[in-house]
Amino acid sequence: MTIQDVRPVPAGLDPGLDPDAEHTLVRSTPEYIAQAEAHGEAIAAVKEQILDALYVMLNEGLFEKAFGHVSCRVPGTDLYCIVGHIHDTERTLFDITADEIIVIDPDGRVAQGEMEPPGEFPIHTEILRARPDVNTVVHCHPHWPVALGATRKPFKPVTYRAGTFWRGVERCPEPRQIETPERGRLVVEHLAQNRAVILAGHGVAVVGASPAQAAVLTVDLQDACRFQMEAEWAGGAHALEDEYIAWRADAPADAETFTAPWNYYSVKWNRKNR
Ligand SMILES: [Zn+2]
Repeated sequence: MTIQDVRPVPAGLDPGLDPDAEHTLVRSTPEYIAQAEAHGEAIAAVKEQILDALYVMLNEGLFEKAFGHVSCRVPGTDLYCIVGHIHDTERTLFDITADEIIVIDPDGRVAQGEMEPPGEFPIHTEILRARPDVNTVVHCHPHWPVALGATRKPFKPVTYRAGTFWRGVERCPEPRQIETPERGRLVVEHLAQNRAVILAGHGVAVVGASPAQAAVLTVDLQDACRFQMEAEWAGGAHALEDEYIAWRADAPADAETFTAPWNYYSVKWNRKNR
């Protein structure tokens, strides 16, 4: 092989932000900072809910290589809690405490906390801006939804639990880091009014009314994609008939279909770590 045989990289491609670049903490406005100061109790409660959801999803293997993040609206404010950017501190999601969950404004500027948000915060800010029905966004890189996205076949609810995603799970073609508002809006477009979206070759965004519901939905999405893929390999995946499962698309966050698995996953995590 000579040097002439090496396939040249086309010029002018945008690789996105340098992941090793220095991160700078951008402070929010005095108004948002005051709002955060006035809602300490609500913020503390949301942080606990995020931590519980985070540990459950880590325990279920959903944060591959311990990458991913969870955000949640702070009730009574325009602010969101989000897991801070920890990777350049040589720590992982397993080390997270309430101190590593920061408060950001709708543009991702820090209203409370000493860490910057994750580079992909526009996934959270753009979804929360566009979907008032959503309180929590989970972004992670689970194996089976990414594999299903690679087939470019439409998502099919082949199990009863997958009926929760009956309205569909689209594939967003952007595989790079969602680190700009424009890319965040592309994710919003493909999320539409659904509960989840697959980011091609990358991961997922899953939305819910609470961190607990979003955690259960993220486990469900992983399972649903795995069942579909396995059925495809065994001869063909067929969606269950609408008349049996369509109702699940509107199941509310306090429905037993979410609360019972949440209790199960929480107990499983707590027993393991007692
Ligand atoms: Zn990602």
